[in-house]
Amino acid sequence: MTSDAHPVIGKDAAPVGFQEHDHQSCVATALTSAEVRCKAEGLRLTPVRRKVLEMLLQEHRALGAYAILDRLRDEGFGSQPPVAYRALEFLVQNGFVHKIERLNAFVACSHPGAAHSPAFMICRKCDAVAEAQSAPSKGVLGAAARAAGFEIERTVVEAEGLCPDCTEKA
Ligand SMILES: [Zn+2]
Ligand SMILES: [Zn+2]
Ligand SMILES: [Zn+2]
Repeated sequence: MTSDAHPVIGKDAAPVGFQEHDHQSCVATALTSAEVRCKAEGLRLTPVRRKVLEMLLQEHRALGAYAILDRLRDEGFGSQPPVAYRALEFLVQNGFVHKIERLNAFVACSHPGAAHSPAFMICRKCDAVAEAQSAPSKGVLGAAARAAGFEIERTVVEAEGLCPDCTEKA
């Protein structure tokens, strides 16, 4: 899927992050806030890192490292896998991007800057990904952990199913 085909708003637009929204401003706002945060924290948002973040923001769907590498090459950033991997590593480490283990792919974070445990809803048909917050210290798991004297630091929640768009078509 190219960024040209990406839905913005309107009746026919695919739910992005499962919800129709002004996607152009969604991408622009996220990029700006990434720039501001990098500046404030002394992080270097190099052109290739910024490009990878922008690609992922365009999608609201998981992209594998090779898809990202292909696009980087098309954009003239070279075709060496370490280029993509290093950019992804930076973005993941600093919370701009999450890795979806289930798909071995990456998505842009929906609320970067906030400390959070993401819970992903992944469409098995179109790979659309929506990110919700999970509260690992609450709920059934939290209660079980407390009973066991276990302190949860991190959880990975990846739910698989059908997004509203694919449910409609089915
Ligand atoms: Zn968007
Ligand atoms: Zn997130
Ligand atoms: Zn779907």
